Amino acid sequence: MKLKYFLPDWEDRLDPDFNFATDKYSKKHDADPYNYDFYAHQLFDKPPYDGILFSLSVFQSKITLKNGDNETYTIRNHTNIRDYLKIPKDSSLKVMGDCGAFGYVKEKAPPLPFYSVENVSNIYDKLGFDYGVSVDHLVVDYVMVRDEITGKKLKNILSRDEKDERIEITLKNAKKFLKLHNKKKYNFIPIGVAQGYDTDTYRESVKSLIEMGYKYIALGGLVQYKSDFIIGILTEIQPFIKGINVHLFGVLRPGHLNDFESFGVTSFDSASFLRKAWLRSGQNYLAPNGKWYAAIRVPQATNPRLLKHANLNGFSIDDLIKMEQDALRALIKYDKGKINVDDTLDIILKYDNLLLRDSNDGENLKEKYERTLLDRPWKSCSCNVCKKIGIHVIIFRGTNRNKRRGFHNTWIFREVAEIINFNKREENADL
Ligand SMILES: [Zn+2]
Repeated sequence: MKLKYFLPDWEDRLDPDFNFATDKYSKKHDADPYNYDFYAHQLFDKPPYDGILFSLSVFQSKITLKNGDNETYTIRNHTNIRDYLKIPKDSSLKVMGDCGAFGYVKEKAPPLPFYSVENVSNIYDKLGFDYGVSVDHLVVDYVMVRDEITGKKLKNILSRDEKDERIEITLKNAKKFLKLHNKKKYNFIPIGVAQGYDTDTYRESVKSLIEMGYKYIALGGLVQYKSDFIIGILTEIQPFIKGINVHLFGVLRPGHLNDFESFGVTSFDSASFLRKAWLRSGQNYLAPNGKWYAAIRVPQATNPRLLKHANLNGFSIDDLIKMEQDALRALIKYDKGKINVDDTLDIILKYDNLLLRDSNDGENLKEKYERTLLDRPWKSCSCNVCKKIGIHVIIFRGTNRNKRRGFHNTWIFREVAEIINFNKREENADL
């Protein structure tokens, strides 16, 4: 895959020395979690992505000006974004900054003064970003707003004029952004965002950006659309994007990566394979052969939801702890071939049945777990996570197992995306 893949940063870190046998964090983690914990790029020999997408709206409260100095930005006391993200000095990983327009989608315009073109460019420059994305405003069909009197959430449908205004704001900011970049001779590579709501508006936005002089453009707001719609836009902009880099924001359509690439897309970002690890879809672990498996839930016995349901069924906390430990022990024994699959399933499901589930989430769970156990996908994975923690990677439990599984998924996606024949009908893996 020639496409450059960026992982959006949501501070997904974990304790590199978490003890899976005792289920305890390391002392070093406890003393200083931020400094001790690892990002995915620290866990593997080769980072499972080409770069990191860092959205200002996610970290707005953490980006501050140094005391007595109106110029130096810091994030957790770091004056360089690469240091903050713990990227080794000799790493080829790139950092792309954007505003994270989803953070202010409800507003009429990107809120000032933080999202002024001047401030955003200044942050990209001072914190040493490799790429800086212009200040955009998302075009959506509606936003949810709270009624000031009743406090109820209301759907506020955007008119055609309001949508056009958002496109206009985005283009105006892009123009100003590039001008300022030239004037101040900033080092980061500027990326202009195109927003739209149909093929015509996207095409016109792209044309404008290229006329302004952008060599790297990004299509925003595509998460809400089907792959065919995206391909429709890419088809429309074909005549204008020769020699231009094109980024797709937030979309991961596994079955269409090759199509996107052939239409001139050069990069994209998505945290989808990471987050699937702990979202309740039954597709939590991506095996090296491209098949998804359900992770096996063994929640902490102190889980409030579990406790509530257990109380209703006459179980004490001690009962729960015993069931929890039995489930963990059964899985470890199973991995060593000391217990058969039926007995393992009985023990797991006895505990699992205490989990309150939404609608049909619990259906077919036995079958899904059985498939995971019988196929033992973790045995055939050569990533650092699976090699080190074995069956723990498919146990759905706490940050250290769940995020490791997410990192594994990201690694697999990166390593084998080209050879996996992803189903084209797996339309939306954006999350
Ligand atoms: Zn693995």
